[in-house]
Amino acid sequence: MIVAMSKDATAEEIQKVVAKIGEQGLRPIEMPGGDRVAIGVASAIPAELRQPLSEILEIMPGVDHVAQVSRAYKLASREFHPADTVVDIHGAKIGGNRVAIIAGPCAIESREQMLEAAEKVKEAGAALLRGGAFKPRTSPYAFQGLGEEGLRILRETSDLTGLPGVTEVMDHHDMPLVCRYADVIQIGARNMQNYPLLTAAGNADRPVLLKRGPSATIDEWLLAAEYILCQGNERVILCERGVHPLDRAYTRYTLDVSAVPVVKSISHLPIIVDPSHASGNWKYVAALCRAAIAAGADGLLVEVHPDPLSAQCDSQQQLKPVNFAAMVTEVRGLANALGRSL
Ligand code: PEP
Ligand code: MN
Repeated sequence: MIVAMSKDATAEEIQKVVAKIGEQGLRPIEMPGGDRVAIGVASAIPAELRQPLSEILEIMPGVDHVAQVSRAYKLASREFHPADTVVDIHGAKIGGNRVAIIAGPCAIESREQMLEAAEKVKEAGAALLRGGAFKPRTSPYAFQGLGEEGLRILRETSDLTGLPGVTEVMDHHDMPLVCRYADVIQIGARNMQNYPLLTAAGNADRPVLLKRGPSATIDEWLLAAEYILCQGNERVILCERGVHPLDRAYTRYTLDVSAVPVVKSISHLPIIVDPSHASGNWKYVAALCRAAIAAGADGLLVEVHPDPLSAQCDSQQQLKPVNFAAMVTEVRGLANALGRSL
């Protein structure tokens, strides 16, 4: 942390800031510059002290502004953990050289639908199966998911096909229930800043797929991951799924492809991309999958439905199995060209 004093700060104001830093057991260093004095904090600031101290210093007389040098998150940062994290889900690895594909319908609708989707995505090369039993819908009148019955179908389908199952948990009270059936728990974009849910996920014995909120900055997203990590759950997978768009005429959200190399450089956590919710249109899904892998994503989360026209939700963005298989073939070629496998 560096405190930049105003150009006209008095010696007394400077000394008060130095004293305030010293009172916290931290070591202040005065750095006189050309036109102003800056005061650096030359010791590690305990995480819980950073924000309150910075807020107090910010309003002290003679202070121009306070700049943060270290990042607000620690466990999620690459400085803390230089090597890439690889999350292993019963042998399906996310992170590392192999591109992992999670695929399946938006919502679990029936046993037949799930089984058909799972068989087709497995045949095409998916390593994990997705499907929502608790659906976060904008309208309370829209299909809300099958709940526990859906979870049972997911478990059965995962067991029959050997594809680990990924499903969303929306409420922290449902965490034990969802963990009974799921191999990976998903925290949806709308819940990225639901702190009781993040804490419950941090205490769950399951890997967590954490989607980025559509309005969240990368730092807010990594701080949400920090909530899970600081409870002791180190198996966090980040998922970029599009941010609020400038133009909704053609796509539902805007895929922030830049988030992939940015997150890779500042965090050790694996990052995957969801082109289905980002675009909201099946026609653009394959192109965004290629962009994600070209940018260095560790995997993809793609919605696939045996018959998108009959889907209970997100029918416009779900791929038919045949189109999913074609996309995987393209992405495999791209991954291979980049020295990766799929
Ligand atoms: C989903 O993956 O089913 C979903 C609802 O996505 P998001 O939270 O990104 O909107
Ligand atoms: Mn969906």
